Amino acid sequence: MSQKQSSIRPLVFQGDLSEEITKEYEKDDHLAVDCEMMGLNPRRDRLCVIQICDSKNKASLVQILPGQTQAPNIQLLFEKKSIIKIFHFGRMDLTFLKARLGISVNPVFCTKIASKLARTYTDKHGLKELVKEFFDESMDKGKQSSDWGKKILSKEQLEYAAGDVKYLIALKHILTEMLVREGRLEYADKCYGFLGTLVDMDLLELKDIFEH
Ligand code: MN
Repeated sequence: MSQKQSSIRPLVFQGDLSEEITKEYEKDDHLAVDCEMMGLNPRRDRLCVIQICDSKNKASLVQILPGQTQAPNIQLLFEKKSIIKIFHFGRMDLTFLKARLGISVNPVFCTKIASKLARTYTDKHGLKELVKEFFDESMDKGKQSSDWGKKILSKEQLEYAAGDVKYLIALKHILTEMLVREGRLEYADKCYGFLGTLVDMDLLELKDIFEH
């Protein structure tokens, strides 16, 4: 793990962000967001952790408790029109946030969609690959599949979780420049605009409507 990656220590909260940090995040126009779950099925699996990082690299980690159905401070930020929420593969996170906490995240930017539209010279669109290409840093994805539902997360899990939101705002700026240069920004914007509907359809299991 590089020096830089281990330097972000997130503030840890249970259930929701504090009023104090919510007020601070509210002033920003960008928030990087990532979620960790027990698995990939939004009906079966619990949403365990939400990580948030602002433009000043202030990272927070919120542990979502078993049975929890609301997080008002997170909801306020995630539905606030003046703040762009940046995800990597937002489709999955948005589905869990909707299914588990009733949050309709908006507006959204997804670095995976942006990468697929801009970086047609490769088929590698993982966060790890983007971080390698643009920042020449190696991300350790070793803790991706670990028990995010446990009460006390390990130091390694906290660092991993914070690392996942660390690069997203910078990536948004880089990928937006590429999208503008390649004349594809409009496609990206329209895809983000459709994400909320896609998430609702995912929850209804209306899959692959564009397929043959
Ligand atoms: Mn993650």
